[in-house]
Amino acid sequence: MKIDSSTDLYGIFGHPVTHSFSPSMHNAAFRELGINSAYLAFDILPETLEKAVDSIRYLGLKGINVTIPHKQNIMEYLDEISAEARHTGAVNTVKNTKGFLYGHNTDVGGVLKALEVDLNLNDFTGRSVLLFGAGGAARAVLSALCIRGVKSITIFNRSVDKAAAVSEYFSAQFKNVCIEFNKLSETGKLTECLGQSDILINSSSAGMVGHDSLDIPLQYLKENSYVYDLVYNPRETELVKSARSLGHKACTGLSMLLYQGVESFEIWTGKKAPVDSMMKALIGF
Ligand code: NAP
Repeated sequence: MKIDSSTDLYGIFGHPVTHSFSPSMHNAAFRELGINSAYLAFDILPETLEKAVDSIRYLGLKGINVTIPHKQNIMEYLDEISAEARHTGAVNTVKNTKGFLYGHNTDVGGVLKALEVDLNLNDFTGRSVLLFGAGGAARAVLSALCIRGVKSITIFNRSVDKAAAVSEYFSAQFKNVCIEFNKLSETGKLTECLGQSDILINSSSAGMVGHDSLDIPLQYLKENSYVYDLVYNPRETELVKSARSLGHKACTGLSMLLYQGVESFEIWTGKKAPVDSMMKALIGF
């Protein structure tokens, strides 16, 4: 790829960020379409986030992805936020148009597209969902599923305060969806909930390389349920392996990573993203 004085710069803000797959995916897309742009990872400490956002304007970065731990905090430094990102309470994509910073959330569309492609799941009406986690990724899942009309979502999270706050935030916006929360250690409640759930989603970091897996009595999960694990590293998680062995349709989160990236790319460039090249870059990581 040619880099010269007219190269446009994109990147990802996170901390830590060295593990990110996004630079490979977006640089592959720029290469494939012959776009003179480059995408880098920026390790931004929480206390320097405001200055980092200013630098998007001063250095003329064209677009930024945002990951842990900045997805919520960045919102106050942007000029405008899309309706979807506002519902979600988190931004993962920023577009810079002549210094005006517009925040989007492409994780919402990304998870819906991944559920459709990987699990053939696109009708959510009347479904009961069991959701692990209450961080930024959980917010995107909640937003997606509430918009698509699920009946109920029960959140299980390690720290109950965070689950309560997220539950309150979405209950206030989506009054037709019954949203409840529990502490992850409440195993009796979890077992009961497993028997009533059509869809189980892990949006916690548990099961990621370097993290313990969730300890779930999966044998109690309702028959023929769908299991989606947002974790994509490792490619096959313990949760997905166990779910498949019990006859459930199950998949890890690489496609969600792909499709949120596809949507970000299209927002930034206005061009159709080269999906196959982006996936090839992710698989080869
Ligand atoms: P986050 O905002 O930091 O939230 C992390 C969540 O995981 C919190 O609810 C936390 O619980 C929980 N958690 C962390 N370690 C845990 C453990 N050992 N056992 C149980 N729960 C644990 O992070 P995030 O942005 O939501 O991301 C969460 C995961 O989703 C990460 O693995 C990330 O890679 C993945 N993700 C994937 C995609 C994709 O495109 N596939 C997109 C976004 C995120 P506490 O509240 O108790 O700390």
